Amino acid sequence: MTTSEAPELIGLAQRTLRDLRLRVAGASGGGPDALREAGYAGAASLFDAFESWLGDRGSRRAEDLSIVEFSARAAEFFQNAGWGRVSFRSLHDALAVIDIEDCWEAQLHGQGETGCHLTTGTLAGFLGCLADYPVAVMEIECGTTSNARCRFLAGNADMLEHAYEQLARGEMWETIGAGEF
Ligand SMILES: [Zn+2]
Repeated sequence: MTTSEAPELIGLAQRTLRDLRLRVAGASGGGPDALREAGYAGAASLFDAFESWLGDRGSRRAEDLSIVEFSARAAEFFQNAGWGRVSFRSLHDALAVIDIEDCWEAQLHGQGETGCHLTTGTLAGFLGCLADYPVAVMEIECGTTSNARCRFLAGNADMLEHAYEQLARGEMWETIGAGEF
Protein backbone atom coordinates (compact mmCIF):
# COMPACT_ATOMS: atom_id res chain seq x y z
CA MET A 1 0.00 0.00 0.00
CA THR A 2 1.34 3.43 -0.87
CA THR A 3 -0.49 6.04 1.04
CA SER A 4 0.20 9.61 1.92
CA GLU A 5 -2.79 9.75 4.22
CA ALA A 6 -2.01 9.98 7.88
CA PRO A 7 -2.94 6.82 9.78
CA GLU A 8 -6.01 7.21 11.93
CA LEU A 9 -4.13 7.37 15.19
CA ILE A 10 -3.98 9.92 17.94
CA GLY A 11 -1.80 10.18 20.99
CA LEU A 12 -3.57 10.41 24.32
CA ALA A 13 -2.25 10.66 27.83
CA GLN A 14 -2.04 7.32 29.64
CA ARG A 15 -4.15 8.91 32.36
CA THR A 16 -7.01 9.43 29.90
CA LEU A 17 -6.85 5.86 28.64
CA ARG A 18 -6.57 4.56 32.18
CA ASP A 19 -9.69 6.41 33.25
CA LEU A 20 -11.68 5.34 30.19
CA ARG A 21 -10.70 1.68 30.35
CA LEU A 22 -11.41 1.45 34.07
CA ARG A 23 -14.93 2.74 33.46
CA VAL A 24 -15.50 0.39 30.54
CA ALA A 25 -13.98 -2.57 32.40
CA GLY A 26 -16.75 -2.33 35.01
CA ALA A 27 -19.91 -4.31 34.40
CA SER A 28 -22.01 -1.26 33.57
CA GLY A 29 -19.45 -0.14 31.00
CA GLY A 30 -19.63 -3.36 29.00
CA GLY A 31 -16.74 -5.16 30.69
CA PRO A 32 -13.85 -7.04 29.07
CA ASP A 33 -15.83 -7.83 25.90
CA ALA A 34 -16.37 -4.14 25.23
CA LEU A 35 -12.65 -3.47 25.68
CA ARG A 36 -11.70 -6.29 23.33
CA GLU A 37 -14.16 -5.06 20.72
CA ALA A 38 -12.83 -1.51 21.03
CA GLY A 39 -9.29 -2.77 20.53
CA TYR A 40 -10.37 -4.81 17.53
CA ALA A 41 -12.19 -1.84 16.00
CA GLY A 42 -8.99 0.21 15.85
CA ALA A 43 -6.63 -2.55 14.81
CA ALA A 44 -6.83 -2.01 11.04
CA SER A 45 -5.75 1.62 11.48
CA LEU A 46 -2.82 0.44 13.56
CA PHE A 47 -1.91 -2.07 10.87
CA ASP A 48 -2.09 0.67 8.21
CA ALA A 49 0.28 2.72 10.33
CA PHE A 50 2.62 -0.27 10.54
CA GLU A 51 2.58 -0.68 6.75
CA SER A 52 3.30 3.04 6.27
CA TRP A 53 6.08 2.84 8.84
CA LEU A 54 7.60 -0.15 7.00
CA GLY A 55 7.34 1.72 3.69
CA ASP A 56 9.09 4.77 5.16
CA ARG A 57 12.00 2.50 6.08
CA GLY A 58 12.24 0.91 2.64
CA SER A 59 10.96 -2.39 3.97
CA ARG A 60 8.83 -4.88 2.12
CA ARG A 61 5.19 -5.13 3.08
CA ALA A 62 4.34 -6.97 6.28
CA GLU A 63 2.86 -9.98 4.48
CA ASP A 64 6.11 -10.46 2.56
CA LEU A 65 8.33 -10.56 5.65
CA SER A 66 9.58 -13.76 7.23
CA ILE A 67 8.39 -14.40 10.78
CA VAL A 68 11.83 -13.34 12.07
CA GLU A 69 11.81 -10.10 10.08
CA PHE A 70 8.19 -9.43 10.99
CA SER A 71 8.92 -9.96 14.67
CA ALA A 72 11.89 -7.59 14.62
CA ARG A 73 10.01 -4.88 12.73
CA ALA A 74 6.82 -5.19 14.72
CA ALA A 75 8.78 -5.18 17.98
CA GLU A 76 10.35 -1.86 17.04
CA PHE A 77 7.05 -0.42 15.84
CA PHE A 78 5.14 -1.36 18.98
CA GLN A 79 7.91 -0.27 21.30
CA ASN A 80 7.97 3.15 19.60
CA ALA A 81 4.21 3.25 20.09
CA GLY A 82 4.62 2.78 23.84
CA TRP A 83 3.40 -0.80 24.08
CA GLY A 84 6.43 -2.19 25.90
CA ARG A 85 8.87 -4.78 24.55
CA VAL A 86 6.89 -6.98 22.19
CA SER A 87 8.03 -10.23 20.61
CA PHE A 88 6.22 -12.46 18.12
CA ARG A 89 7.18 -16.05 17.47
CA SER A 90 5.71 -19.23 16.09
CA LEU A 91 4.75 -22.11 18.37
CA HIS A 92 5.15 -25.44 16.55
CA ASP A 93 4.06 -23.68 13.33
CA ALA A 94 0.53 -23.88 14.70
CA LEU A 95 0.08 -20.84 16.89
CA ALA A 96 1.78 -17.52 17.41
CA VAL A 97 3.09 -16.47 20.82
CA ILE A 98 3.21 -12.79 21.61
CA ASP A 99 5.08 -11.66 24.71
CA ILE A 100 4.88 -8.10 25.97
CA GLU A 101 7.32 -7.05 28.68
CA ASP A 102 6.18 -4.00 30.62
CA CYS A 103 2.85 -4.21 28.84
CA TRP A 104 1.30 -0.75 28.59
CA GLU A 105 -2.17 -2.00 29.52
CA ALA A 106 -1.08 -4.00 32.57
CA GLN A 107 0.37 -0.76 33.90
CA LEU A 108 -3.04 0.92 33.63
CA HIS A 109 -4.88 -1.73 35.61
CA GLY A 110 -6.98 -0.83 38.59
CA GLN A 111 -6.26 -2.49 41.90
CA GLY A 112 -6.69 -6.27 41.68
CA GLU A 113 -7.59 -6.08 38.01
CA THR A 114 -6.12 -8.54 35.55
CA GLY A 115 -6.40 -9.02 31.81
CA CYS A 116 -5.26 -6.80 28.94
CA HIS A 117 -8.46 -6.79 26.94
CA LEU A 118 -7.74 -3.80 24.70
CA THR A 119 -4.43 -5.39 23.75
CA THR A 120 -6.05 -8.80 23.15
CA GLY A 121 -8.60 -7.30 20.75
CA THR A 122 -6.03 -5.14 19.01
CA LEU A 123 -3.67 -8.08 18.44
CA ALA A 124 -6.52 -10.14 16.99
CA GLY A 125 -7.40 -7.42 14.51
CA PHE A 126 -3.77 -6.58 13.71
CA LEU A 127 -2.76 -10.19 13.01
CA GLY A 128 -6.04 -10.71 11.16
CA CYS A 129 -4.85 -8.09 8.64
CA LEU A 130 -1.96 -10.44 7.83
CA ALA A 131 -3.77 -13.78 7.87
CA ASP A 132 -6.34 -14.98 5.39
CA TYR A 133 -8.63 -16.11 8.22
CA PRO A 134 -10.03 -14.43 11.34
CA VAL A 135 -7.41 -14.55 14.08
CA ALA A 136 -8.37 -15.29 17.67
CA VAL A 137 -6.17 -14.20 20.58
CA MET A 138 -6.11 -15.34 24.20
CA GLU A 139 -4.00 -13.89 27.01
CA ILE A 140 -2.55 -16.79 28.98
CA GLU A 141 -0.41 -14.86 31.47
CA CYS A 142 -1.02 -11.31 32.57
CA GLY A 143 1.75 -9.28 34.13
CA THR A 144 1.61 -8.04 37.66
CA THR A 145 3.90 -5.58 39.36
CA SER A 146 6.31 -8.41 40.22
CA ASN A 147 6.26 -9.92 36.74
CA ALA A 148 5.24 -7.37 34.18
CA ARG A 149 5.13 -9.71 31.23
CA CYS A 150 1.92 -10.56 29.42
CA ARG A 151 1.77 -13.55 27.10
CA PHE A 152 -0.77 -14.12 24.36
CA LEU A 153 -1.53 -17.02 22.02
CA ALA A 154 -2.93 -16.36 18.57
CA GLY A 155 -4.33 -18.67 15.94
CA ASN A 156 -7.55 -19.56 14.22
CA ALA A 157 -10.64 -20.08 16.35
CA ASP A 158 -10.39 -23.90 16.37
CA MET A 159 -6.75 -23.85 17.40
CA LEU A 160 -7.42 -21.37 20.17
CA GLU A 161 -10.36 -23.33 21.51
CA HIS A 162 -8.20 -26.44 21.53
CA ALA A 163 -5.42 -24.53 23.29
CA TYR A 164 -7.90 -23.23 25.87
CA GLU A 165 -9.07 -26.77 26.64
CA GLN A 166 -5.50 -27.99 27.03
CA LEU A 167 -4.61 -25.13 29.35
CA ALA A 168 -7.77 -25.79 31.37
CA ARG A 169 -6.57 -29.39 31.80
CA GLY A 170 -3.33 -28.04 33.21
CA GLU A 171 -1.05 -28.63 30.26
CA MET A 172 1.91 -26.32 29.76
CA TRP A 173 1.44 -23.74 27.06
CA GLU A 174 4.78 -24.68 25.46
CA THR A 175 3.45 -28.08 24.41
CA ILE A 176 0.28 -26.78 22.83
CA GLY A 177 0.10 -27.48 19.13
CA ALA A 178 3.11 -29.80 19.11
CA GLY A 179 2.55 -32.33 16.35
CA GLU A 180 -1.15 -31.75 16.25
CA PHE A 181 -1.79 -29.56 13.26
ZN1 LIG B 1 -1.85 -8.46 30.58
